[in-house]
Amino acid sequence: DKTLHIIGGGMAGSEAAWQAANMGVPVVIHEMRPKVETFAHRTGDLAEMVCSNSFRSDDDEQNAVGLLHWEMRAANGLIMHTADKHRLPAGGALAVDRDPFAQDVTATLRNHPLVTIDYGEISELPTDGHWIIATGPLTSEGLGQAIAKETGKEALAFFDAIAPIVYADSIDMSKAWMQSRYDKGDTEEERTAYLNCPMDRDQYEAFIDALLAADKTEFHDGETAGYFDGCLPIEVMAERGRETLRHGPMKPVGLTNPHQPDVKPWAVVQLRRDNALGTLFNIVGFQTKMKYGAQTAVFKMIPGLEDASFARLGGIHRNTFINSPTLLDNQMRLHSKPHIRFAGQITGVEGYVESAAMGLLAGRMAAAEILGQTPPPVPQDSAMGALIHHITGGAEAKTFQPMNVNFGLFRPVDGLKGGRRGRKDRYKAYTDRAKAAWTDWLDHVKAPETA
Ligand code: FAD
Repeated sequence: DKTLHIIGGGMAGSEAAWQAANMGVPVVIHEMRPKVETFAHRTGDLAEMVCSNSFRSDDDEQNAVGLLHWEMRAANGLIMHTADKHRLPAGGALAVDRDPFAQDVTATLRNHPLVTIDYGEISELPTDGHWIIATGPLTSEGLGQAIAKETGKEALAFFDAIAPIVYADSIDMSKAWMQSRYDKGDTEEERTAYLNCPMDRDQYEAFIDALLAADKTEFHDGETAGYFDGCLPIEVMAERGRETLRHGPMKPVGLTNPHQPDVKPWAVVQLRRDNALGTLFNIVGFQTKMKYGAQTAVFKMIPGLEDASFARLGGIHRNTFINSPTLLDNQMRLHSKPHIRFAGQITGVEGYVESAAMGLLAGRMAAAEILGQTPPPVPQDSAMGALIHHITGGAEAKTFQPMNVNFGLFRPVDGLKGGRRGRKDRYKAYTDRAKAAWTDWLDHVKAPETA
């Protein structure tokens, strides 16, 4: 049977269906709404935007998500073209009129001669055929359990407790230093896995005051169950006692500050390398429910991070996602059941645009497989390629957390100035290189017809 079945008609599932159907493959979308609801969706439409109505920056020269927009438009992406049709004025961002957008995506797919929408929940893993699971952060409980049974419980998360991620080149190394606690590690790679930022007593006390005073977000109804085992937000730790952090994630033991070898730091904030390239570092143990504005203000109080740029800020949310680096191959197929692909937020990307982007790739790859084609690998220098490479191989599997697209995922371009001053030229070089690589790839894969 040459039919492609897609579970979940959200951002990723809708895009995957469009791409595969345009390649001539019949598609069935299995969508549980409106029969079964989630706490965030309000309608029975496909591709509903559950929270903000923004696709973020549309700048395709200086912004990685804007570049992803460009690449998806070049690939005749349904989500991008429909978003463009229902665009609202919002400066450099792509804001979308969400209800007409979702209704339009639904109608376009419903009217496609090769697409069928089958309303109902799927709660078992399919045993044969061609499938994409794109059920998103709010995957239904039954299917979540079936996935956990297949992947092992530890490889499926129901929450993300995200520590903020910092661009390595924005850290002030005249204050911070590289060292693993007790100098553990035999290889250069292990010894360069940690960066440390020291605090004296006054700095620590001021930091605790700021944490306690910061604006925080509330949990949604039904969102909290189960989260408290293991991943307390730092502000909750601080509420439990002013010394708690100093004995927890900020303990100063086993570290010597080479900038001031005679002064024992009162507390140390540790950052851990977050990708193989060493361009991103996460702040260890700093998951938080502080609002974004408050996070930037509070984290810039950390010595060495005064000028930090964040690839993503921290958060704690209900979010179902699998450990893609260990479970998926570079075509997003489950190693243990290669007739099943995963796409969208459940693969550990984060955001409407990133989810749709991974749907685009999964749809094309699944259709190519059904048609007996072997497309060349997605070029790593494109935004699409940087993202799929990160989730299926580049990310550290042990600390894998959902990721937005960002320039830290890109291979450096040789011969360009680092740091803040070279940033504009560097980003332009990344986006030029990405567009060329992506255009070349599209020329080599069968281009979908324009509907
Ligand atoms: P979804 O768009 O959620 O689509 C998954 C679909 O699968 C849904 O339609 C669901 O009904 C269906 N489904 C689930 N289980 C089953 C099943 N067993 N059988 C059949 N169908 C099933 N991203 C942003 O960029 N901006 C934001 O502001 C933002 N806010 C968010 C707020 C919340 C509360 C959540 C949970 C997420 C938010 N996200 C946001 C993150 C994420 O990018 C979006 O959720 C995005 O829609 C993910 O796309 P997706 O296709 O992977 O999943």
